[in-house]
Amino acid sequence: MNTKIWLSSPHMGGTEQNYIKEAFDANWIAPLGPNVNGFEKDLETYLGQDKKVACLSSGTAAIHLALVQLGVALNDEVICQTFTFCGSSNPIAYQGAIPVFVDSEPETWNMCPKHLETAIKDRIAKGKTPKAIIIVHLYGMPSKIDELLEVASKYKIPVIEDAAEALGSTYKGRQCGTFGAFSILSFNGNKIITTSGGGAMVCNTIEDKNQTVFYATQARDNAPHYEHSKIGYNYRMSNISAGIGRGQMEVLDKHIGLRRDMNTFYVNLFKDIKGVQVQKQPNPDFYSNFWLSCILINEDAPFTKAQFQEAMDAANIETRPLWKPMHMQPIFKDALYFGDNLSEVLFKKGLCLPSGSNLVKEDLDRITKVVKGLL
Ligand SMILES: *Cc1c(COP(=O)(O)O)cnc(C)c1O
Repeated sequence: MNTKIWLSSPHMGGTEQNYIKEAFDANWIAPLGPNVNGFEKDLETYLGQDKKVACLSSGTAAIHLALVQLGVALNDEVICQTFTFCGSSNPIAYQGAIPVFVDSEPETWNMCPKHLETAIKDRIAKGKTPKAIIIVHLYGMPSKIDELLEVASKYKIPVIEDAAEALGSTYKGRQCGTFGAFSILSFNGNKIITTSGGGAMVCNTIEDKNQTVFYATQARDNAPHYEHSKIGYNYRMSNISAGIGRGQMEVLDKHIGLRRDMNTFYVNLFKDIKGVQVQKQPNPDFYSNFWLSCILINEDAPFTKAQFQEAMDAANIETRPLWKPMHMQPIFKDALYFGDNLSEVLFKKGLCLPSGSNLVKEDLDRITKVVKGLL
């Protein structure tokens, strides 16, 4: 049997273990230390815009702390892109708040500014002004940020930017993860860079960063003993994990280049196959890291989505349906939803394909062979 070709597996650059060794040598085996500080600095330099970064235990934890700091509480409503991973939306439920899901638009597959405005108007008319809006750059594709921020600021609702999949993607030349009141990143095992598990909060001010760290370290007040006037969390990143992150930052841009090459590979592979569409950047304002390359298999394609998946599976090549929209999930079946079902169509027709920066020519040949075999 051929070895498995994964969608996106960890890809170490080589220097990660040096940082881990330093941590062991200095006995910094704790959720703080030089690697945490160093990784935060690396991210701040990379993102620019004078941002302040707090490293956390996961991207989901970062979304949660963004909601906490925006004052989202019991029965508050929070708007969230429906076409996303549950890490974007579950923290709304952690707060006892109520998600309101908004559909995508066809160009980026991310939140539609028009549906967003419809949702906001409806909720305001019912006396339920949303407390926050969670926008996502799915698969690395920047959303229509200007339009979304314009709607959000018109109604003075803060935006949480979920850039978990979009580190290194840019919109009009500016890094994704720098547009929100709070922005979040993820370094889970399958993301563009990984710390095995981890995440970060990107903040606009040092005060916001300090407050994020405060909540992430059990909200300890300034007292000689342990005094708490707020509920805190144990959400800080380990100094060992951060060491992996520092090594990964050295190869981030190189790995983005390789992922973009994977996308070009698929564009070429499918270019003469009617009915198969590779997700693409709408125009040069949108620069995707192409964390995952995705296709839609339409009715006029020479094979069905099921046939394609089956053939890839038989060749030990992973494929995965696009994210199932949150408003279709059993956990959110009663939630409000505004849209025209685009995300449902994407879910029905779409697949993610192997996109890792560590795929080699033999892997690409195997994928090509499966596709040719289906024709
Ligand atoms: C991965 C991911 C998250 C959550 O990140 P974790 O670090 O896995 O908790 C949130 N949102 C999106 C869109 C993601 O892909």
